[in-house]
Formats: sequence, C-alpha cells, structure tokens
Amino acid sequence: MEPAPSRSTRPVYSCVSCHAGADPVSDRFFEVAPGTHLCFSCAMRRGGEYDSGCNDWAVRPHVHDLLRTLA
Ligand SMILES: [Zn+2]
Repeated sequence: MEPAPSRSTRPVYSCVSCHAGADPVSDRFFEVAPGTHLCFSCAMRRGGEYDSGCNDWAVRPHVHDLLRTLA
C-alpha cells in the first residue's frame, strides 16, 4: 500500500522583514541570502517584480538594509 502523499513537505521559511512564517497567499519568496528569505508580500513592497512565466524575479527587491543587518 502506498503511503498518502504529505502536503507538509514544502519548505518552511521565516520572512526576515515581517517575520511571517510563510506568505499565506503565495509560496513564493525572495532569497536574500542562503537561509534568509523575504516573503512575497515584502519583496513586492520593496520593489520586486516576479515573472511567473520564468518563475524567477524579473526585478530584484531592494534588500540592502537587510543585508547590512545580516552582516
Ligand atoms: Zn515578509
């Protein structure tokens, strides 16, 4: 018998800006640095533009202040 596929295997991240566990509207996020993520809402608010056709960011959000915090 096959085990039921689990939907809880998607990666969980914590937004470095708003500290949300994950964007409830979208699973998309911007990777500021390895292990550091910005949720979709925050990335858009910071000027990011997501190209859903390419599944990648057409315009990267501004994260200079976050990088300074990480350093
Ligand atoms: Zn956020």
